[in-house]
This record gives sequence, C-alpha cells and structure tokens, in this order.
Amino acid sequence: MFMDSWKGVQDHLSKNMSVRCTRVPGALIVGAGPSGLATAACLKERGVPSLLLERTHCVASLWQLKTYDRLRLHLPRQFCQLPFRPFPTNFPAYPTKQHFIAYLEDYKKHFSIETVFNCTVVSAEFDHLCELWRVKTKGPKQEEAEYVSRFLIVATGENAEEIVPQIEGMDQFQGPIVHTSSYKTGDLFEEKRVLVVGCGNSGMEVCLDLCNHNAFPSLVVRDSVHVLPQKMLGRSTFGLSMWLLRWLPVRMVDQILLLVSRFMLGDTSRFGLHRPKLGPIELKNATGKTPVLDIGTLAKIKRGDIKICPGIKRLTQRAVEFVDGTTEKYDAIILATGYKSNVPGWLKETSMFCQDNGLPRQPFPNGWKGENGLYAVGFTKRGLLGASIDARRIAEDVELCWKADRGCRFHGLCSPTTTPTLTSRNHCFSTPKWRENFRSTSFDCRLVSLEVTPCGTLLIPRHSY
Ligand SMILES: Cc1cc2nc3c(=O)[nH]c(=O)nc-3n(C[C@H](O)[C@H](O)[C@H](O)COP(=O)(O)OP(=O)(O)OC[C@H]3O[C@@H](n4cnc5c(N)ncnc54)[C@H](O)[C@@H]3O)c2cc1C
Repeated sequence: MFMDSWKGVQDHLSKNMSVRCTRVPGALIVGAGPSGLATAACLKERGVPSLLLERTHCVASLWQLKTYDRLRLHLPRQFCQLPFRPFPTNFPAYPTKQHFIAYLEDYKKHFSIETVFNCTVVSAEFDHLCELWRVKTKGPKQEEAEYVSRFLIVATGENAEEIVPQIEGMDQFQGPIVHTSSYKTGDLFEEKRVLVVGCGNSGMEVCLDLCNHNAFPSLVVRDSVHVLPQKMLGRSTFGLSMWLLRWLPVRMVDQILLLVSRFMLGDTSRFGLHRPKLGPIELKNATGKTPVLDIGTLAKIKRGDIKICPGIKRLTQRAVEFVDGTTEKYDAIILATGYKSNVPGWLKETSMFCQDNGLPRQPFPNGWKGENGLYAVGFTKRGLLGASIDARRIAEDVELCWKADRGCRFHGLCSPTTTPTLTSRNHCFSTPKWRENFRSTSFDCRLVSLEVTPCGTLLIPRHSY
C-alpha cells in the first residue's frame, strides 16, 4: 500500500519542485539584528541548531544601513552586550556605531551563526496538519523559497519600517525631505536651514550633528518630552535608575531623576521642552516612550543655536507653516519620526501580535512566547537588554521542546531524487517494506497517512502515529 502511495508521492513531488524548500532542524529565526543573533547564540549554547533569515546583505542592518555616522550606543556598554560574549575591554563606556557593528559581526562568527542573507520573509503560517511553521521568502530577484520549521522566532525588531507622516504640501516642498534612516552626517547641510521633525533621541542628536556642521537646525516639538542628562551623580542615568529601582518604587525613582535633572539642566519647559505628567520611568513602562538622554543638544537649544518650533500645519514650496500661524523658510526637512514593526505584514497568525502596532499583545515580561512554537525577541521596548532577556528565555523553552520532540516525533523531508529521512529515536515502521524508503531503521508506531506539500516537503502529521 505504501509503495503505491510513495510512487504517488514521488510523482507529485516531481511536478511541484518550482519552489525550493528547506527543512530547518531546530529553530528558524527571522531577522539577523542583535535580537536574532542573541537568540541563535543562546540556542547554540544549549545544543539547538537554528537558521537566520535576513532581508539585507548584512547582520544588524539597522545599525549598518540606517543610522547616522556620529551614533553611539545611548546606554552604557554593560547594558548593551549580548549573552555569553562581553564587549572587548578596549571599547569605550558608550561604544560607537562602528564598535557595535564590529562586535556583532564577531558575535556571529564566534557562534558560527548560520544566516541566509538577501532573503525577505513574506509570509509565515502554522500548518496545523503537520504542526510546522511554513515560511515563504523572496530573494532580490523575487525568487521564491520555502523554509519549514518546528519553531519560529520573530526577531524583525521594533524598528523594521520607517514611519513617514503625511504632511499637507509635502509634494510641493522643493528641498529634500528625508527620514533619519537616510541621514548620515550634517556635511550636506552646511549653511542650510533644516527643520528636524521629532524630538526623540535621534531628532535631538541629528540637531546637534547639524549644528556641528554649521547648519541652522530647528526642532519640531509637538508633544511633551523628558530630557535627562546622560550621566548624573557620577553614574550613567540609566545605570543609576536600574540601581535605585532595586530599592525604591518607580515613582520615587522618577522623583529623584527629575530633581537631579532640574538641578543639572534647569527648567526645560523654559526652552519649549515641556515634561509629561508621568515620570520618565513610569511613562516608559506605560507607553514605551524613551526619555531623551542629552549629550549636548540642550546646551545648543539654550544658546539659541537650535530653535524649537510647534507642530507643522502645512508645507509650501520653500517654507513651513506652523500650527501657531508662524511661517519659516527651510532648505531641507529631516523626519526623526521613528519606526514601526512589520510583523502584521507577513505573520499569518494574529493572536500573539497586535495587528495595529505589530508588537506582542502581552506586555513585558510575558510577550516572548506564543502558541505552537512561536516566539518573539526584541519587542520589549527595553532595547538590547530586553532582547537579551527574551533570547535566554526563548532558548530555554525551545531546548525543552526540542529535546522532548526528538524522542517522540517524526518529521520527514524528502525530495524526488533522495530517499526521505526520518529523524526519530524510538520508533519503528511495522512494515519492513516501508523501511526501504526511509533511512531510519527503528520504529514502533503505525504510520497512517502522509502529506506531501507542493514544495516537496514530506510532512508526517503527529496525530497520525
Ligand atoms: C538610532 C538608534 C539607536 C539605538 N540605540 C540603542 C542603544 O544604545 N541601546 C539599546 O539597548 N537600544 C538601542 N536602540 C534600540 C534598537 O532597537 C536596538 O539596539 C536593536 O537594534 C534592536 O535589535 P533587533 O534585532 O530587535 O532589531 P533590528 O536591529 O531592527 O534587527 C531586525 C533585523 O530584521 C530584519 N528584517 C526585518 N524584516 C524582515 C523580514 N520580513 N525578513 C527578513 N528579515 C527582516 C532587518 O533587516 C534587521 O536586520 C537604538 C535604536 C535606534 C534606531
């Protein structure tokens, strides 16, 4: 009986091999940024293999391709290193972008992390029949492929796609309008009047960079914002907050941060930077909004080198009209308007991730695990530290399932030209003839049905034995 169906299987496969299909043992990780790399390393340390799929040609594409030259880590090095590999001792307290990229490339090499580059995941769906994730990808020339895996780890980041606001008159404005992801240095803007839209860390730092390149920046500040000094009381503000939080409640820590900030920076509302009602950490926990850690921009604002502007009403050919009725001429506009997750665009599973913002529905620390071997790393709004925490948890969980699976499940892969291989420890096929078609030799169960996917993967449903 099986031989008949096996012939059918082979015929079917021969007809349907237009899409290359790869069965991934262990976990399939989407995204080769710090989160994906950290998870792969944690899995490796536990003996679980993994494969990363990355849409660009390099690791950490956000850092390599979408950040400005002067960027340094905003947080001190000890809060940004990934599991099992500290930063080299000669790195400064706040490593530069170049340091960080070198570290990540070395990290990949050190853990021999397998990665397929130029491979964009366009859909991922759980196949309930065979209990595997089926991930479809496209290459640079739109070539399609499919990867099949028991575990799917989403590591595409909170910053996968640029947010570009639609502003009235954008098509009329005659100067360049660029997102910070395309901004490298202020060189190009010397002597130019530049409007920077958005007052997060990136917007503030771009303004500083523009000043340092003799441009004339203005900063649009629509919302309230917490600006804190990068260091206070001889420690990094972030480190100090983490330490205080061990002993004191969030609100009290916030009060201390605000008091010291007031002492060091003065009343920021005098310069148009109004503070939110919630304290910086409470606000971060509630909304994910990160306080700005000032590295010198505020001094330029105080000196009048950077002008603060209200929200934009509309753009005209060479000018910007603001909501307070004033109009100013500008040569260029830089949008420091942030990024968003792209998960809803490709993950065909809607219970774990919110469809509106592409972030896990469960807040930190519970957003890392979904159903059916689905995981999320790096969506905690807690930067690299949050990613490392997720990565360790995921690796621990996957290891347990992976080891349990190896003892009791079949998942087969075949192509028309090779004999299918079944990975199983304790099972044997009851009919000797079947054995001829499978390399595995010891079986203790009855195989009831086989399914062959169009891409050429032989999948054996778990409930069939
Ligand atoms: C300017 C800036 C400065 C920052 N500074 C700090 C800091 O100092 N400290 C800190 O802790 N955090 C910082 N962050 C936060 C930042 O998000 C993390 O540092 C880190 O890059 C997040 O890593 P990630 O791997 O989760 O996401 P990313 O670095 O964004 O990596 C995700 C990867 O997934 C890939 N990808 C996306 N979609 C697909 C797809 N469909 N198919 C295949 N691949 C895909 C992307 O190409 C990318 O390589 C900063 C962020 C920015 C923007």
